[in-house]
Amino acid sequence: MPDAQSKRLCVGLVNQTNKGGTMNLEEIEILMLTKMCENELGGWTLEWDNSKTHLGLTYTRSHRIVLSKQLIKFDKTTVNDVCCHELAHAITGEGHTASWRVKCLLLGGNGRAEEIAPDSFFKWTGMCKSGHIIHRHRLHEGTRGGSCASCHKGFSREHMFNWVMNF
Ligand SMILES: [Zn+2]
Ligand SMILES: [Zn+2]
Repeated sequence: MPDAQSKRLCVGLVNQTNKGGTMNLEEIEILMLTKMCENELGGWTLEWDNSKTHLGLTYTRSHRIVLSKQLIKFDKTTVNDVCCHELAHAITGEGHTASWRVKCLLLGGNGRAEEIAPDSFFKWTGMCKSGHIIHRHRLHEGTRGGSCASCHKGFSREHMFNWVMNF
């Protein structure tokens, strides 16, 4: 059973460009494990997944940090930001609180809490007329014809998304 309540979904990468990475998996792992040691997170485990929807996850209850292999596509600054973002969750045991942010900045991260992936990560970005944004890897008929749930519960023609293909 995943401990859903203590799971923190984190990306924190708005406006970061995906230029093609500068670090390989081994380098990222060494960077993260070093930071974990420095911050006395020796009892924690570092795992990898291949997620395209999050670059980092912290499971505070089971003491696990999961990084996405997709990180190799990003530049060094972004990799460092993701590592610091997750470390700050692990150290504080908190969500995106003020003390989390302070810790994140102290660690050398950007302190950003936005939980949305960069546009370049997803093929499709949809925006409703109020500016709510959603991202999709694929655009099914149902998604294309869907409307914004933040604006209106149930379908509303007025709040349909306008879709832009990112690549
Ligand atoms: Zn977070
Ligand atoms: Zn909306």
